Amino acid sequence: MAGEVKCRTCGKGPTEARLMICAMCHSRFCGEHSYRRGGKPFCSKRCAEEFFLAEDPDAPPTSPWAEDDES
Ligand SMILES: [Zn+2]
Ligand SMILES: [Zn+2]
Repeated sequence: MAGEVKCRTCGKGPTEARLMICAMCHSRFCGEHSYRRGGKPFCSKRCAEEFFLAEDPDAPPTSPWAEDDES
């Protein structure tokens, strides 16, 4: 169901908690389940790490196709 507004972790809606949107996966989450990194709120540590890996040009490629270039 598109547009469902509730915390992905605890299921609280906007009337019960202040919901935010993850900059990485666009899931909604409440303040209790937010993970802040670099001034942005994320739904989880994993999303925070992926977001900054994607932005960091020095990070090793995570794409499964990246290694094909060598053969
Ligand atoms: Zn929550
Ligand atoms: Zn997320």
